Amino acid sequence: MSPPDRKTLEAWDDAHVWHPFTSHTVYRDDNPLMIERGDGSWLVDVNGKRFLDAVGSLWCNILGHRRPEIDEAITSQLGRIAHATFLGNASVPAVELAKRLADLAPGNLTKVFYSDSGSTTVEIAVKMALQFWQQEDGGKQAHRQRFLSFGQAYHGDTVGSVSVGGMSLFHTRFAPLLFGVERVRSPYEWRALSGGDDARWLKLAVDDLSTTLDNCGDQIAAILMEPGMQGAAGMLTQPPGYAKAVRALADKHGTLLIVDEVAMGMGRSGALFASDTLGIVPDFLCLAKGLTGGYLPLAATLTTERIFNAFLGDPAEGRTFFHGHTYTGNALGAAAALATLDILTNGVLDTLPDRIVDLRSRLVPLMAHPSVVDVRQFGLAVGIELLAGDVVRCGMAVCQVAATHGVFMRPLGDVLVLMPPLTISDNELDILFSALQQSIDTVLSGAV
Ligand code: PMP
Repeated sequence: MSPPDRKTLEAWDDAHVWHPFTSHTVYRDDNPLMIERGDGSWLVDVNGKRFLDAVGSLWCNILGHRRPEIDEAITSQLGRIAHATFLGNASVPAVELAKRLADLAPGNLTKVFYSDSGSTTVEIAVKMALQFWQQEDGGKQAHRQRFLSFGQAYHGDTVGSVSVGGMSLFHTRFAPLLFGVERVRSPYEWRALSGGDDARWLKLAVDDLSTTLDNCGDQIAAILMEPGMQGAAGMLTQPPGYAKAVRALADKHGTLLIVDEVAMGMGRSGALFASDTLGIVPDFLCLAKGLTGGYLPLAATLTTERIFNAFLGDPAEGRTFFHGHTYTGNALGAAAALATLDILTNGVLDTLPDRIVDLRSRLVPLMAHPSVVDVRQFGLAVGIELLAGDVVRCGMAVCQVAATHGVFMRPLGDVLVLMPPLTISDNELDILFSALQQSIDTVLSGAV
């Protein structure tokens, strides 16, 4: 039986589907894709039209679509079992994956707690940190109940991860439910005052954090940071040395550091973990998105023996971490993640330093473009901030034109985002940058 045609699918989509992060008032007019297949760095729609997936299907597809090794790993696992509960039980690929992650992770992050999204991996770290302080050392520091995060950070959509983020839209609505959060300015905000001097930028950003911690450091359960670049907050970079300074300040004030690598982990920074690129070892390292190569919803919160040990004791004492999802430790997801790690560690990671340099050189002409305010890069993550002028929904308008040139992007307001598969080829980068230049020119010529 052949699938319904595009018109029918669109009618059903309009009638029945409520899309995430989507205004349904403009959804149909924004010409959404109707994807039927994928092939390497490309998405293919129901009419066979191909689109370069320049945002890696919302930052998770790191090795291209239909990657034979991952397809094979999932199919082979399917021949054994798709899923068995991980609550109080174990199953083969998720245990193998935990061992592999613990071996690869920086420092002493030897304990792996699974869940299924970026939001839940952060939610878990936050809950673990709170419960840890209630239980370690007889609860002597149980007063540590606030979190510290940076500016308009985004750490996910569950109420806990919304709390530690700072997206104003969420906060006005969910404020009564939120964890206590101390918010300092995003390190990026200090760049403008630095006069282009990285050392001064670092000092301004670190002084701000340091002053806040001097006031309330003993109340803070954990500092929550995206390493290297704050993604959904607008692709905001940090001064070199910032992550190390945050780690040092967390130690000075005896608090914990949660590093949210949901977007910047799994090779995006140039190393497997952004914490490695930046030379830090967090107390919690949150992974999701690219963990399965972008195939399946699997996430992992890595932490240390110190945290884990505070949850031990007779079950009757109630020290257990009472959190778990039905699909925790999913076998298909774990098989996909093992294959993803194989591919990354057997070649792809070695290619990244050159690719990052190449990407930087391709961005240079855009920096000089009269309609571009700023170009920000961390590893293979890029934000291109447009000078929108009077153009309404400028970022979206540019992405719409890019789609007519065969490139799929999704903006963050007026910031264009490039998060391509790490395996994108030179030829595909040529296509991407040509489409980008033409789309910006089309939408913004005359707007400056
Ligand atoms: N943390 C970061 C840094 C993210 O970028 C995202 C998603 N963009 C999340 C958490 C939430 O991930 P998910 O959408 O899988 O819940």
